[in-house]
Amino acid sequence: MRIPLIAGNWKMNKTIDEAKAFMQAVSDQVTDPAEVETAIAAPAILLSTMLANNPGHRLRIAAEDCYWEDSGAFTGETSPQALAAMKITYVIVGHSERRAYFNETDDTINRKVHAVYRNQMTPILCCDETMGRLEAGEKIHWVVSQVTGALKGITEERARQLIIAYEPSWAIGSGKSASAEQAEEGCYLIRQTVADLYSDDVANEMRVLYGGSVNPENIDSIMAKPNIDGVLAGGASLNAETYLQLVHYQ
Ligand code: PGA
Repeated sequence: MRIPLIAGNWKMNKTIDEAKAFMQAVSDQVTDPAEVETAIAAPAILLSTMLANNPGHRLRIAAEDCYWEDSGAFTGETSPQALAAMKITYVIVGHSERRAYFNETDDTINRKVHAVYRNQMTPILCCDETMGRLEAGEKIHWVVSQVTGALKGITEERARQLIIAYEPSWAIGSGKSASAEQAEEGCYLIRQTVADLYSDDVANEMRVLYGGSVNPENIDSIMAKPNIDGVLAGGASLNAETYLQLVHYQ
């Protein structure tokens, strides 16, 4: 039984005051994590405020990225060790905006996946898909290469806890979500890739999310699909009321 995860990704949005107001509106309204887990990934400068305004700790607080070394002379980077010391649960790794604007590659993403696990956190590994690839019918190739590249050297035991998000970049921030069928197909391919890399057992245990223009209107049909265990919502997670509609989707 895989527990659904309704995760938000704020990206580079919100001030400390806005983050605090969101937490005050949302933290005691989310579901019991044993039934439906909830998480918000936020910029590193907002994380302490969010943790301090999260009584009951039902909502998981996540980071949007981190560096692959634990600490050291890396000006401007976010230390995974420091995130772990704050009790951050999840770290997004390999978001398509990181791949597109910050030149992240399968190799750097793989190093970050290792760093997140080494510091006892869990990665939410994002796999991208461009419209060009979709139109060229390259789906199977990209899934296999991105998932395989990101998981190099990751043990079976760690892979069981993994969360992978299928996030076609043509659906991100565009208002044009993938159809539930397209989302299911992407998530299914990711699960099959993990089954080939490890085993059916691992693939059945790990969670696969869909991300790209998820909103309160389309979440029900997406969550109804058998290989989709949750969502990663950007724009729809910024407003407290809209995020709570996603959380209480059923
Ligand atoms: P969106 O973003 O929901 O605004 O499309 C999703 C994401 O980038 O994770």
